[in-house]
Parts: sequence; C-alpha cells; structure tokens
Amino acid sequence: MEMQLSEAQKEQYHLFRQFADEEIAPYAARFDAEEQMPREMIQKVAGQGFLGAVLPKDVGGMGYDMTLFGLLNEQLGRACSSVRSLITVHSMVSFAIKRWGNKGQKTAWLPVLAKGEKIGAFGLSEPNVGSDARNMETTATKKGESYVLNGVKKWTTFGEIADVYLIFAMLDGQPAAFLVERGQPGLETKPIRGLLGTRGSMVAELQLKDCVIPVINRVGGRGFGFAGVALSCLNLGRYSVAWGCVGLGQACLEASLAYSQQRVQFGVPLKDHQLIQQLLTNMYTQTKSARLLCHHAGLLQEQDHVCAVQETLVAKYAASVAASQSATNAVQIHGANGCSSDYPVSRYHRDAKIMEIIEGSTQMQQVMIAEHAHQMFKMGHRLDELIGQRG
Ligand SMILES: Cc1cc2nc3c(=O)[nH]c(=O)nc-3n(C[C@H](O)[C@H](O)[C@H](O)COP(=O)(O)OP(=O)(O)OC[C@H]3O[C@@H](n4cnc5c(N)ncnc54)[C@H](O)[C@@H]3O)c2cc1C
Repeated sequence: MEMQLSEAQKEQYHLFRQFADEEIAPYAARFDAEEQMPREMIQKVAGQGFLGAVLPKDVGGMGYDMTLFGLLNEQLGRACSSVRSLITVHSMVSFAIKRWGNKGQKTAWLPVLAKGEKIGAFGLSEPNVGSDARNMETTATKKGESYVLNGVKKWTTFGEIADVYLIFAMLDGQPAAFLVERGQPGLETKPIRGLLGTRGSMVAELQLKDCVIPVINRVGGRGFGFAGVALSCLNLGRYSVAWGCVGLGQACLEASLAYSQQRVQFGVPLKDHQLIQQLLTNMYTQTKSARLLCHHAGLLQEQDHVCAVQETLVAKYAASVAASQSATNAVQIHGANGCSSDYPVSRYHRDAKIMEIIEGSTQMQQVMIAEHAHQMFKMGHRLDELIGQRG
C-alpha cells in the first residue's frame, strides 16, 4: 500500500494549506459568530477551482484524484468546517449529476457547478427521517410530463443560498432523486439558526408544496434513487468529512501545542506536566491514525476496490471520533480560555460534535461496518487480506 505523496500532490497540498491559512482561517470565527458565509468567501473558494474538485477538466473542473480531494478537505477542515461543508455538499451534487445525470442535466449543470457559478445542496434528511433515510416521507407524483413534489427537507447544508437541490422523494413506493432549482414555484427555503457547530454553513429547511418539475429533472433510473444516487453521494460525503476531521484534529493539536508551551502553571509550562503530555499524545496518535485510514480509503476509492465503501465508513467513523476526542482534549488543555470565543478550540469542539452526526452518525457507521464485515466473512473473504491489503 503506497501512501507516499507524489511531488505534484505535495506541491498542491502546500498550496491548499497556504490558501487555508491565509484566506480562510482568519475569517472562520466571524462566520461562526455571524452564522453566515459571505458570497465573497464562496467566490474566493470558487476562484481556486475547488468547487469543481471532483469534476473532470472537460467540463471545467479540476479533475482531482481522490487523494488530492482528500488533502483539500483536510486543509479546509483545518481552517473552517463550514467552508469544508460547502465543498462536501456541492461536490456530492456535482458527483451525482456526473455519475447519474442525463445528457441535458450534465450540459446544463456541470460547467456552472465546476466554476462555482451555481451552488448545489443535498436534500435527504427530513423532520421525521434521519438515519432511516430510506423511509423518507417526501413524495413525488407523476402528472403528465411533470413530477409534483410534496414534503419537507431539513438540515440542508447551504440550503439557504443554493441554486440547485438534489432532492430525494418517494415515487411509486421507491426512493427517487430529482433536481429542483431555486425559484421553482412551490419551493420555499427557511434558514435554520442557532446550531451547535458549522454555524457558517447556512443550513435551511426546504418546504416543497405542490412543487412541479419537468420529468427530465429526475436523476438516475428506476430503483437507483437510494441504492445508487443517495448511497454513492454519501460515500463521497463521508470521505470528504473524514478528511475534514483529520484537519480539525490537526488544528486542535497545533493550538494545544502552542498553548501548552506558553501557559505556565506551578512554575513550568503546561507542556511539562505529564498529564498534559498524555492528552497531547492521544491527540497526535488519533490524528495520525485517522489520516492513515483516510489515505487508505482514498487509494481504494481510486481503484474502485470492493472494500472502498467499507474502508470509507471506517475512515469516517474513526476520524470523526478522533476529532471529537481531540477537540475535547484541546478545550481541557486551554482550561477556561478554551471555553471562550477568544480561542478557536471552543469552535473546534462544537464543530467536531457535528462530524459525529452528519453523513451517518457514529452509531450508524458502527452498525454498517459490522454488517459489512459479517457479509464479507460469510462470503468467505479473508478479512486479514481485505483489512490489511496483503496477499
Ligand atoms: C449541521 C448539520 C448539517 C446537515 N446537513 C445535511 C444535509 O446537507 N443534507 C441532509 O440530507 N442532511 C443533513 N443533515 C442531517 C444529518 O444527515 C442527520 O442529522 C443524520 O443523518 C442523523 O439523523 P437525525 O439527526 O435525524 O438522528 P436520528 O436518526 O433521529 O438518530 C438519533 C440518534 O439515534 C441514533 N440511532 C438512530 N438509529 C440507530 C440505530 N439503528 N442503532 C443505533 N443508534 C441509532 C443516532 O446515531 C443518533 O445518535 C445535517 C445535520 C446537521 C446537524
């Protein structure tokens, strides 16, 4: 298993890091406090081509491989989880159209999504439906050459400002996917404020009341709405969030190393107290473990490997738990200062908790990983080979 970055990837990684440090991190506290992401920031990210990260060059995208896409998410996640969330959901919608869309959808949407001229959002969750997303209550009814959508989508990241929504609804008793444009009669967006974390991600509720869309706006064929479109998008979303968590863990570690060097208690810097060293060591080890798991998942994704989905679940599970624990430790090391908005670790702590809920909660990852391992075992696969990639 080769995890060494190529020279080109290293160069790109440094550019991501520099952009995140100079252009995003200084503003992250403001987005959090104001619960807004200004258009200028979205344009700045779009100007780097990052909103077209997963799209091929022939439609104006960057054509990043999965490793590079992961490294981008790591650096954005290190600076601001709300900006990383933009990349996550926008990439999920872009990917869905590229993978499952018809010719007209690809022509209309891929170039403008790649350039960030239009923003995409992902509408799966509902007020009564979260982890059990397959049992959604939103409905689509075919009427002539149209579908009529009715229902409510909740917690839609960047739903407040998106131009196009990938909406999932029950059609003839089966989940199906549709593109709904902002401004469509029957679609209303209601901002959701007061969230614990990723407060700059402009989350909204979407109300669909007799929202009529043309039949050509359906994405993916019959029977592919959930198992195809939704699950493949979630696979990409989990990968993006997992890498974002590596960045978040890294930010917690860097902030804690700096603070424990300058804060003196009992006549010595905090870093010289062994119990603080234990916290730092745990943060270091967990962040490194998460990074290795993400790299591995990325390599498997690139190979379209039979274990790519499973190892992405593992990476998301481990990285989000690691980020959450690292953020708790970071606040602990900062003491009362860690509880104030004067230091970024209080934001990291709130953002990290969100990571254990989105794109499938920690419990759902645990359930899915165990179920998948059982399946592999029953099918006679050598788990040591699959997990370790040996043989
Ligand atoms: C900031 C933010 C942004 C979001 N953005 C989006 C978005 O862009 N698009 C979108 O569609 N959704 C979005 N979501 C919603 C998110 O995907 C859901 O919150 C998530 O799927 C969990 O669903 P739920 O909150 O309804 O929890 P529930 O499903 O009600 O679960 C509640 C608790 O029960 C546990 N649980 C549920 N089932 C089981 C089980 N079988 N075994 C063990 N434990 C279980 C869960 O782990 C959780 O701890 C967002 C959420 C947040 C907080």
